[in-house]
Amino acid sequence: MTHDRPEADLDRYAVLGNPVAHSQSPFIHAAFARQMGERMTYERVLAPMDGFVETVRAFAAAGGCGCNVTVPFKFEAPALAARVSARARLAGAANVLGFDADGWWADNTDGIGLVRDIIDGAGVPLRGLRLLLVGAGGAGAGVLGPLIEAGPAEVMVANRTPERAQTLMLRHAAWADQHGVRLQAGALDAPAGRFDVVINASASSLAGGAVPVAPGRLADGALAVDLMYGAPARPFLDWASAHGARPRDGLGMLVEQAAEAFFGWRGCRPETGPVLAALRERLEAKA
Ligand code: NAP
Repeated sequence: MTHDRPEADLDRYAVLGNPVAHSQSPFIHAAFARQMGERMTYERVLAPMDGFVETVRAFAAAGGCGCNVTVPFKFEAPALAARVSARARLAGAANVLGFDADGWWADNTDGIGLVRDIIDGAGVPLRGLRLLLVGAGGAGAGVLGPLIEAGPAEVMVANRTPERAQTLMLRHAAWADQHGVRLQAGALDAPAGRFDVVINASASSLAGGAVPVAPGRLADGALAVDLMYGAPARPFLDWASAHGARPRDGLGMLVEQAAEAFFGWRGCRPETGPVLAALRERLEAKA
């Protein structure tokens, strides 16, 4: 006969950010836990803007086993860990922390989440393609390394502040050489020619700003991804459709990056398709 352990005894995880109320991570991880029979809880924790480190330490001291880290703390997270994964080191940012008995570790699963969503979710093999990555903040930093690893012919990084794009390019120059990928960087109006995949990793949709890409940059039938989802992503997705591109929002990436974090914590890999479908249904019902 089995007994349910009281909730207080379940392994605790959380997402830490500011703001954090909008986060869909508790829904996603609860669905993964049910699917895999993992006995855990997952909550939202609002960290004060100047109190990220103290909030992480308090959560771990209260029995937390690991956490996701979201805006604006991803750049602060690696410094807390004794072991930092190669992809988090390359990004200089982490969205996952694990509090293992033998030391804390940090990882960045945003990039592998995006790559899996593009290749498996959208069915676009990245190898040999021309990619335009718009944005050089936390998300841009997290996805560039795994995008390069997927073997496109070229990646152009464009950012409102071009110096940040240049810095990101320099940080990834050796990685790009190693993978035979042509890497360039510049301002939003710097990209030339047409791109097979355009990724909006900027906060333009969140800010309600104009689409930061000229329509002429889209190749016929290009895939146009906005890392944002829900109503704020709608103008970018409509713009993509209106210019003959295939629109895709950031929900698939969100679920895939969560699955990779779950694997890091629990050692098992949930099926993402049903969770993505349930999340989409939930958000549409709320809209
Ligand atoms: P961030 O670190 O604050 O960086 C913001 C980036 O957006 C910077 O490159 C900034 O340019 C640029 N930007 C801001 N407003 C802009 C505008 N109106 N026009 C053009 N560029 C603008 O934010 P982040 O963490 O990178 O997040 C970016 C987006 O990705 C957010 O919408 C976030 O929700 C989304 N995201 C989604 C997932 C997912 O799983 N789907 C994961 C991570 C992030 P400057 O350098 O010039 O300031």
